Amino acid sequence: MMKSMNIWFASGNAHKKTELEAILGVKLIIPSEAGLEFDPAETGNTFHENALLKARALHRLLCERSPAGYRKGDPVLADDSGLCVDALGGRPGIYSARYAGPAGEVSGTKLTSPQRYALLLDELGANQQRSARFVCAMVLLFSEDCYYLVQETLEGEIVKGVDAARGSGGFGYDPVLLIPELGRTVAELSDEEKNRISHRGKAGKAIARLL
Ligand code: IMP
Repeated sequence: MMKSMNIWFASGNAHKKTELEAILGVKLIIPSEAGLEFDPAETGNTFHENALLKARALHRLLCERSPAGYRKGDPVLADDSGLCVDALGGRPGIYSARYAGPAGEVSGTKLTSPQRYALLLDELGANQQRSARFVCAMVLLFSEDCYYLVQETLEGEIVKGVDAARGSGGFGYDPVLLIPELGRTVAELSDEEKNRISHRGKAGKAIARLL
């Protein structure tokens, strides 16, 4: 990696930033740290469309505003991720952060993560098909049409009910995705264990090789 370059991360999620910094072994700058307001509408139909849309939007903003710390040519990193449940036809998918039950999926309702996964477990009910995966698309963008795109998954099973949600690590849906080979939910893994096997960890490692 070039010594002088900064990598800009197109996100406002401080937890994701910390996870990615550990995976990549480099510091990232998020727009708010440079005084930039950044909240592009995620209008894509897939994870990779949304990741590319966020990367392009931040790249344009940096070129326009040239905030302190930005040098022309600095790369932009963006990701889009979510939980895809097979019995729900892949939902909530790209709407994972905005999932509010079957009727309110794109409502943007502000729910806590435990409220969100309780609604998901409710929607799944006693369905025997529990297979699901976290998906992460990641884009490393140098200019509007010059970028690398990777997509990775973490396969697991949705726990049987709210009483089976376990663990205090990670964030979001981590307590309800069980990794059968480990007999633990993602929220029961240490940060290092999660980063080694996770969708974001594997995508980040591929990006780190490109850097
Ligand atoms: P994004 O910020 O648009 O990528 O939204 C991702 C959403 O998907 C998060 O808000 C979580 O609800 C869910 N998600 C993505 N990755 C993870 C993970 O590693 N653990 C738990 N939930 C995740």
